Amino acid sequence: MTTGKVKGIISNLVTVEADGPVAQNEICYISIGEEKLMAEVLKVNGDSVFVQVFESTRGMKVGNDVEFSGHMLEVTLGPGMLSRNYDGLQNDLDKMEGVFLKRGTYNFPLDREKLWNFKPIAKEGDAVEAASWLGEVEENHQPHKIMVPFVMQGVFTVKSIAKAGQYRIEDTIAVIVDKEGKEHEITMIQKWPVKKAINVHREKPRPFRLLETGIRIIDTANPIVEGGTGFIPGPFGTGKTVLQHSISKQADADIVIMAACGERANEVVEIFVEYPKLDDPHTGRKLMERTIIIANTSNMPVAAREASVYTAMTIAEYYRAMGLKILLMADSTSRWAQALREMSNRMEELPGQDAFPMDLSAIIGAFYSRAGFVYLKNGKTGSITFIGTVSPAGGNLKEPVTEGTKKAARCFYALEQSRADRKRYPAVNPIDSYSKYIEYPEFEEYIKTKIEGDWIGKVNKMKTMLQRGKEVQEQIDILGDDGVPTAYHVTFWKSEVIDYVILQQDAFDPIDCVCPLERQEYMFDIVMDICDREYEFSDFNEVSDYFKKLINVCKQMNYSEFKSEKFEEYRKQVEVILNR
Ligand code: ADP
Ligand code: MG
Repeated sequence: MTTGKVKGIISNLVTVEADGPVAQNEICYISIGEEKLMAEVLKVNGDSVFVQVFESTRGMKVGNDVEFSGHMLEVTLGPGMLSRNYDGLQNDLDKMEGVFLKRGTYNFPLDREKLWNFKPIAKEGDAVEAASWLGEVEENHQPHKIMVPFVMQGVFTVKSIAKAGQYRIEDTIAVIVDKEGKEHEITMIQKWPVKKAINVHREKPRPFRLLETGIRIIDTANPIVEGGTGFIPGPFGTGKTVLQHSISKQADADIVIMAACGERANEVVEIFVEYPKLDDPHTGRKLMERTIIIANTSNMPVAAREASVYTAMTIAEYYRAMGLKILLMADSTSRWAQALREMSNRMEELPGQDAFPMDLSAIIGAFYSRAGFVYLKNGKTGSITFIGTVSPAGGNLKEPVTEGTKKAARCFYALEQSRADRKRYPAVNPIDSYSKYIEYPEFEEYIKTKIEGDWIGKVNKMKTMLQRGKEVQEQIDILGDDGVPTAYHVTFWKSEVIDYVILQQDAFDPIDCVCPLERQEYMFDIVMDICDREYEFSDFNEVSDYFKKLINVCKQMNYSEFKSEKFEEYRKQVEVILNR
């Protein structure tokens, strides 16, 4: 094993003289008395190695001993991760006082003593390879597959497999034999370096299956797909967190992973307090049962912050290999980009725009590309849908993180200050936001199996009407209510019907908070019927009175149980107004 000595220290950056081979991103430990601090290799220059310590380097001296580990930053994968709160290095935050570990202590992320009810899937004599399912345990009501470790290369034969029964994570549950006849004991846990994508699937086609979120402005107007990517830029207070909570609760996913990169500790504490309170509409239990939180705040060391999104992604890839649907959220990826900036600046790299690393776009792109929909080797499917928020300074959407993310993500949900100010929630800008999946022929094929008629054609028509509404509104603002033909008012109010009835949705109303696809389709048809009609009015006041009445009744429909007596009552009222 390579060792070394500390040569120089600048804050968290340490130069080490190494006595042997060292790899980029390798993990090493620097001794300060009894303490051993974890660090990651950033750059290797001959014998001189540049490392970044994950913690405070207080008390470190030139000459301190360094041990290189021979591996990159890894996570430990196995049953028992659900419901946990980890930091970026996968320390279990619930095992410690407050949000911080004592320096130099890294705790084991899983429970070594817990007994799991194991059921074998593979049989003696089966041929297996990396990620093959050997057996299954139940983790918080979910099947959790025990797989051949992803690092294992080649084909193996199962020599023995444990009988159904109770086992600990470190017990051997299978012995597999490689081509040379060498035996390998398999337990329920394995390790994987976080910065390397887990590629154990057979195929990764473009994603195409609609991922229902129950949020109209997403599903109806800008749909995301299972295994798709999206991002939510928005200034403080525009509803990023509320939107992410709604998506986490409602989206059709088996597991939710939340990477919380907070500006301040209290934002992250808010997640620890809020998430356990969230109810799970799918199971009737708590959402936290099928959630994992990876958290860090800006007072944690920069390298740990940079690592957290990778840790979250790696855990997501592990569950995807079990054939599950994962929803991965990161709030906010701007904090991650800031960690990248700090590191790049400390290394005195040539800076790009706003002092971010030159290759920021490529780093963001590589990260987003780890999401996706896959066919596993056994023919089953799995997916990671990734949605990140971005907090652009001053709401400036031209800054590098927003621009870089725009290239990487396929859906764009722009939260707008002026909409939030007018309490038009979710404050997603209806004109600028988009979903590129709508343009995929495979998505169009798929949606035809779910919804009758030309759904995409209708969506595009709705967007054109919103655009037209905005244009006439600008003219009305300039020329005055009297200065434009009455028909302009009709165009404007049609777009308001779309806005109020489809786009706006109250996340805190017990009924309106989630709108299933069938109901979205139903309301969309009513709204489009309203918008398709021709109207005759004598003046603009009549126009606004008429449409306000319609909007009111339609909103009452949104707040009533679908197809209940009350709902049908309002439906009739809409007809009456339309047939005046
Ligand atoms: P951010 O995370 O962007 O700072 P929040 O998600 O905390 O903003 O939202 C700020 C406030 O806006 C919320 O406390 C809530 O009052 C309101 N809000 C946001 N979205 C909605 C919504 N869909 N329905 C109702 N109120 C909302
Ligand atoms: Mg927030």
